[in-house]
Amino acid sequence: MSIQQLASKVHANHVSLVSLSDTVTFGGQEIVIIGGPCAVESLAQMETVARELRHAPVQAIRGGAFKPRTSPYAFQGLGETGLDILAEIKRRFDVPVVTEVMSIAQIDAIAAKADMLQVGSRNMQNFDLLKALGQANKPILLKRGLAATLEEFIGAAEYILSHGNPNVVLCERGIRSFDTFTRNVLDLGIVAALKQLTHLPVVVDPSHAAGKRELVAPLAKAAIACGADGLIVECHPQPEQSVSDARQALSLPEFVNLIRELQPIATAVGRSIASPVREPIAA
Ligand code: PEP
Ligand code: MN
Repeated sequence: MSIQQLASKVHANHVSLVSLSDTVTFGGQEIVIIGGPCAVESLAQMETVARELRHAPVQAIRGGAFKPRTSPYAFQGLGETGLDILAEIKRRFDVPVVTEVMSIAQIDAIAAKADMLQVGSRNMQNFDLLKALGQANKPILLKRGLAATLEEFIGAAEYILSHGNPNVVLCERGIRSFDTFTRNVLDLGIVAALKQLTHLPVVVDPSHAAGKRELVAPLAKAAIACGADGLIVECHPQPEQSVSDARQALSLPEFVNLIRELQPIATAVGRSIASPVREPIAA
């Protein structure tokens, strides 16, 4: 039996839309931009991000509360406190929030506060987690494993789909190769291939691919040009002070400028950058 039953495109125009909120949808004509720091560090940090990026505009804010770190001695995230900060940002700024889920035990707490659950690269083949997310009532942002083939990536999506959750967005974030100058190698070939082979929206994370902030904008532009449905980009009020992934974080003005520069590229490929209508900020 083919690994790919539910993820396959069955005809050329077969495209699934995945909604993040009433106004934000992946896979349509509008490109969805998710921005924010690698990790939620404090309420003040996230307020600054949300306030500045509201006008960019971004359609969703990211920030890890549970962080998968190479070293067990590195900052592991604020955990539940981080989720509370995200919930507060969502409420006050009327913006959807995206955050990573690392284990089955975290699903309920995260799903109660976030709009989209991110499966990180290191968990792309955590099959029990994928099955459990099939039962979750939230869209899933599934990141490609560090060295996953296209078949393995689609197979991971298939786990979520076949366990009952149709709302899966794929994310190419670079794959490991021999050259360490860039943190990873952004594989735009797989973006084009996934768009042809599956009906799922595909977004690109240029930040973890590049690993260096000065390379993020060119990769983001290339991703839009080659048909990505959205971007997830790391930024920080004080990039050098980021507790994780500092080297790849854009400053907030750099981020706003990047979105401005993406506009003509989106237009050239028949897309636009969404400008969501937002309620006034609650007191
Ligand atoms: C992240 O988004 O901060 C992250 C850890 O990404 P990845 O799983 O792609 O390494
Ligand atoms: Mn990161």
